[in-house]
Amino acid sequence: MGAIAENLARIRDMVPAGVELVAVSKFKPIADVIEAYEAGQRDFGESRVQEILEKIPLLPADTRWHFIGHLQTNKVRSLIGKTYLIESVDSERLLELIDSESVKAGETTRVLLQVHVAREETKFGFSPDELLEYFKARKFEGLAATHIAGLMCMASNTDDTGQIRSEFALVADLMRKIRESLPQLRGFDCLSMGMSSDWPIAVEEGATSVRIGTAIFGNR
Ligand SMILES: *Cc1c(COP(=O)(O)O)cnc(C)c1O
Repeated sequence: MGAIAENLARIRDMVPAGVELVAVSKFKPIADVIEAYEAGQRDFGESRVQEILEKIPLLPADTRWHFIGHLQTNKVRSLIGKTYLIESVDSERLLELIDSESVKAGETTRVLLQVHVAREETKFGFSPDELLEYFKARKFEGLAATHIAGLMCMASNTDDTGQIRSEFALVADLMRKIRESLPQLRGFDCLSMGMSSDWPIAVEEGATSVRIGTAIFGNR
């Protein structure tokens, strides 16, 4: 077994049943992605539009591509119809653009809304208040071709596990609040949080999907 297949097997053993594992293959050559695919992995995460568009045709059609990077508005159109899930929708403006481009293309796009909870200013996303406001105002009802399937977040890049845990807990709590206040929301059940360094904490706090790169493919 190659190193990637071994890493995958080890991590799959640790990730509880019912938690989806997204293998983050960004910056990694296609041979590595294929090794993971051949080891049974189907969900892959990429953070750059050009790179994901190059890789998509090189993998079998049952590969599920997750876009997880900051998506510039001028690149939205090229991504529509290509992804299983766009996890990193970080503004209302981007969401509306995804929706209008999806309508034009005759596609339905599944997305997660990214929540900004980390200490770093550099990270993107809706603030918790903006997110609650978005749902309270029922703006999602105006979407014609976009399905909001849940929330995504990145915790602070820190050794302080208490801090990381509290950020994951905050997003899990936001998810609960939104679901409780809008019981009619359908298919709003994906909570994507946790990376190589912090995914066990994320799972303990309720993640239903983890995005793991380095621990599978090695350092970038
Ligand atoms: C790169 C990246 C990951 C994976 O990070 P690792 O530390 O390599 O596991 C997860 N989520 C997002 C949004 C990323 O950009």
